[in-house]
Amino acid sequence: MRGKFVKAIDMALARVLPGARLGGRDLVIYAFHSVLPGLEALGENLIDPYQPITLADIESVIVALKRRGLRFVTGHEIAAGERRGPMAWLTFDDGYANNLALLPLLRRHGVPATIFVATGHVMSGEAYWWDVLYREGMRRGRAPADLAREREAMKALAPVQIRARLIAMFGEGALRPVGEIDRPMHPEELARLARVPLIEIGNHTHAHSILTRVDKEASRREIAACSAVLARITGRAPASIAYPNGNFSPAVMEAARSAGLEIGVTCLPFRNRIAGDGAEESANLALGRFAGLRNGAIRRELALSLAPLGLGIARSRRITQCNLRGPITSRA
Ligand SMILES: [Zn+2]
Repeated sequence: MRGKFVKAIDMALARVLPGARLGGRDLVIYAFHSVLPGLEALGENLIDPYQPITLADIESVIVALKRRGLRFVTGHEIAAGERRGPMAWLTFDDGYANNLALLPLLRRHGVPATIFVATGHVMSGEAYWWDVLYREGMRRGRAPADLAREREAMKALAPVQIRARLIAMFGEGALRPVGEIDRPMHPEELARLARVPLIEIGNHTHAHSILTRVDKEASRREIAACSAVLARITGRAPASIAYPNGNFSPAVMEAARSAGLEIGVTCLPFRNRIAGDGAEESANLALGRFAGLRNGAIRRELALSLAPLGLGIARSRRITQCNLRGPITSRA
């Protein structure tokens, strides 16, 4: 309730002071996943539509952030001490092949972006489990809200258990992507993408493990395996990690640090004030990130992320994971 109140005040201030300046160390991070050419791509129920976003939506975000004077950065730049803010960081989780369509747009605007890749999917070519559940569930006439509940429940399982359950429910063939919209990028595509100067590749674990649900050793293995595959395919070790589902803990942060990562992004929607040299560097392993920007809610969510008090909604404690909002279809 208090979080809602703070958000309302912040939004009201944003309307009164639309030009309020952000500070020099302010860093606003945005999370996206699949990028669609247009919303009609959702009509076939081939991917989980919980956060629909189109190329045109991404362009509107870039234009709005530029207009507010934000400078676009990457994880490597922040790790290297970049502090000339205010800064914006565009991130795309999972490693969908449809993210390749971002390139002309990023080039046109001269804006960098980071793709956080779950390397196990790149190597196996298998579809992401939440898309398989949605596609096959919809084919069998199940309700989107029911599938969203099942998706949240399945997050308690390890990736290998989720995979076994999907095979038991839908057969092994269901794990094959159906086309360009739902497939992970191939290793060659990842290598090519990594060579584009505007693109940074980040760690999203190997098997898309929710790291707070496994022990510290497994956490470390998952993170290290991803970094090793990325280094082999792209020739460069990642500097940053996006924790799958946004879940993190002190033990997860320590696992990331021990794997050589300096920057960690969550799904806690707050604006960051980047720590100075040597001070509170651990804060950079738990950076806030806005995951709520989606078709139809871009302006509102952007205003919130840039609101003068910068209190956002993180302190409401109600939204602590990327996926808690549920599918767009179940929203009022
Ligand atoms: Zn993910």
